[in-house]
Amino acid sequence: MTGWLAIAGLGPGAEALVTPEVTAALAEATDIVGYIPYVARVAAREGLTLHASDNRVELDRARHALEMAANRRRVVVVSSGDPGVFAMAAAVFEAVEAGPADWRDLDIRVLPGITAMLAAAARAGAPLGHDFCAINLSDNLKPWELIEKRLRLAAAADFAMAFYNPRSKARPEGFDRALDVLRDACGDDRPVIFARAVSTPEETLRVVPLTEATPEMADMRTVVIVGSSLTRVIPRDGAPIVYTPRSAPE
Ligand code: SAH
Repeated sequence: MTGWLAIAGLGPGAEALVTPEVTAALAEATDIVGYIPYVARVAAREGLTLHASDNRVELDRARHALEMAANRRRVVVVSSGDPGVFAMAAAVFEAVEAGPADWRDLDIRVLPGITAMLAAAARAGAPLGHDFCAINLSDNLKPWELIEKRLRLAAAADFAMAFYNPRSKARPEGFDRALDVLRDACGDDRPVIFARAVSTPEETLRVVPLTEATPEMADMRTVVIVGSSLTRVIPRDGAPIVYTPRSAPE
């Protein structure tokens, strides 16, 4: 039997949001590779080896997965959400490009998942109904100056924006700065959605005006969506509906 490598997205948390394609790959796998909390979402079974590793070792993890697939194992690298969004798929292809030539002939497939911003947007209404962008606020892999430049340009282009990795214990001040930049660059107020642990039992959703948003409203399990100047809030009992109309005026 030949080996293969699938890079799979487990979705935002709920079992019902894992695609059948991913479930099938997990059922055929001999090895699961990934960050500890994501590997923990895969049920242990006879014949399946779980290789859980700590954060920030993505390239080592990718090489290990490729070596196993080259040795005829059936390997699934797991990410939360979608594996192509700030996750393992790009790390695997970085390893392929830099690695031995025969890795390019391996059977490698990327299996998409529901990314956090889409799960969060669905809960809130349709805040990404018009043009939008996604920005990773972590400065682990890029300089803060680039993040700030992109925030300013996205605000100038009047995109709705989704922010991943808004805040960590290691960088508590980063999100504070991002909010200051946005308040300065947006010029007017707009709704901000703090969606935490979407589709898990700990899920919370909060909608506040940008002028009232504070850094403590986000943590590493939160995806933050900032509306465009056209984003609307429909108040009602309970959580409001937030949506961005499909059209922009001439
Ligand atoms: N590949 C993942 C993103 C990994 S980066 C995806 O496509 O969703 C990790 C960040 O994703 C977190 O800091 C948070 O901003 C966001 N995130 C992941 N799961 C989430 C969830 N269930 N609810 C809210 N945000 C989530």
